[in-house]
Amino acid sequence: MSTTPKLSKSPWVVHFNCNSCNGCDIEFLALLTPHYDVERFGIVHVGNPKHADVLVVTGSVNHRNARVLKNVYDQIPDPKVVVAMGVCASTGGIFADGYNVLGGIAKVIPVDVYVPGCASRPEAMMDGIVKAAVILEAKRRNPKAVQAGQPVVVRTPSAAPAAAAAIPQKEIPQPC
Ligand code: SF4
Repeated sequence: MSTTPKLSKSPWVVHFNCNSCNGCDIEFLALLTPHYDVERFGIVHVGNPKHADVLVVTGSVNHRNARVLKNVYDQIPDPKVVVAMGVCASTGGIFADGYNVLGGIAKVIPVDVYVPGCASRPEAMMDGIVKAAVILEAKRRNPKAVQAGQPVVVRTPSAAPAAAAAIPQKEIPQPC
């Protein structure tokens, strides 16, 4: 039996590129294509934070964009959920030691869901957004029930090795 609660409203998602190399952003856009079709979960991608429930952030925080990220976050009405998409948004990633980099977005705003990966795989992203929708619903029903500082970490799907094993050997490209 599924434990996913019935959602009272379709979660609307706004995406903010905080300093990304665009790798995670391209994968995120793939969710909107017919192949992954995230809209089948009732999830709508919007361009205005004032219309959104879920903030998806890619890239690390630096001294220049920290204020902008906080501004975008503050425009989203409560209750809201934040998803750190990719290792850069989670920890600063490969840019963490940069002279102008503060680190992951949790340095500036609270994070509810972490989706690791460089870039995150679309399947993991979709899992993270669905988990965000569940957290959003819990916040709507009882904001005090959702404790701050207890974010969810999405595990990268482990189906890849099994899928690779299922590919006939002759179709696997051989190294030159
Ligand atoms: S996690 Fe990787 S793909 Fe995503 S923004 Fe950082 S460097 Fe680019």
